Amino acid sequence: MSELDLNKPAGVLVKTTCVDFPGLVAGSFFLKGCNIRCPYCYNIGLVLNDSEIPAGTQTEPLNTVAELFAHLEKRQGILSGLVISGGEPLLNPYTPLIIRRAKELGYKIKIDTNGTLPEKLRALIEDDSLRPDFIAMDIKTSPSRYSTLICGDASPYFGKSDFFEKVLSESTELVASYSADCREWRTVLVPGLVTKDDIKEMAKLLPVDASWQFAQFMNQNCLDPSYNDIYPYTDAEAKELIDYAKTFIEGANLR
Ligand code: SF4
Repeated sequence: MSELDLNKPAGVLVKTTCVDFPGLVAGSFFLKGCNIRCPYCYNIGLVLNDSEIPAGTQTEPLNTVAELFAHLEKRQGILSGLVISGGEPLLNPYTPLIIRRAKELGYKIKIDTNGTLPEKLRALIEDDSLRPDFIAMDIKTSPSRYSTLICGDASPYFGKSDFFEKVLSESTELVASYSADCREWRTVLVPGLVTKDDIKEMAKLLPVDASWQFAQFMNQNCLDPSYNDIYPYTDAEAKELIDYAKTFIEGANLR
C-alpha cells in the first residue's frame, strides 16, 4: 500500500484534451514541482513553492490524485490516453503510482519532461509496468546556455554548462530509442533564447528523424516578469526560424 496521500492537492487536471497526446483523446495531469526555472514559464503555481508565489498571482486550483483516478475510472473506454506533465513529472513521487493505475485501466501514457533527469527517465522506460508509450522532451536553447538563462544566477546549476550538455544528451538518447511516431522534442520560440545559432546547436542533439515541434512564446504571466515585456517573434520571423531548423531536422514544425 502506498504511503503517498492521494487526497493532497498534487496537480492540475485537464479532463479532456485532443491536442496534447498525438493521435489520442486524453486527459492531462500537470504535477506540481520543477527542478529548473525557465524565465518564460507561465506555470508559476506549479513551479514555485507556495511561499514563493508572489502575492496576487492567479494560480489554478490543484486537484488530488484521488480526483484524477476517479476521473480516469469514469472515462475508461472514452479517453484512451493520459498525459503526465508539469512542472517536471519525473521529479514527482506520484508519477509511478499514476502510471501504474492508468495502465491498469487501459490508458496509454505520455510523459512530458524537460530532459534534465535521464536516470529517472531510464527507470521508467526499463520497467514494463511504468514504461511510457510516448515521450515529449523539451529542448529550450543551446545546451551551453541552460545554466544561466534557464536557471538564473542563484541556481545550483549556475556556470555548469557541462551538466546540461550531459543530461540533455542522455535523455535525448533515451527518447530516441522509441520509434519515431512515439516521441517528439519541443521548443518554445522565446526571442533571445532561441536564435538561429541556438537552433543550430539544439539540432546537433537530435536524431535526424526527430519530430521537432516549435510553439510561439506567450508574453503573459512569465516567471521572470521582465519576459512579459518581450514581444514574440512575428509569424514571418517564426517561419524563418522553422525553415532554418528544417535544414537540419526535416520534421521541424510550428505547432
Ligand atoms: S517551462 Fe517547464 S521546465 Fe521550465 S520552469 Fe516551467 S515547468 Fe519547469
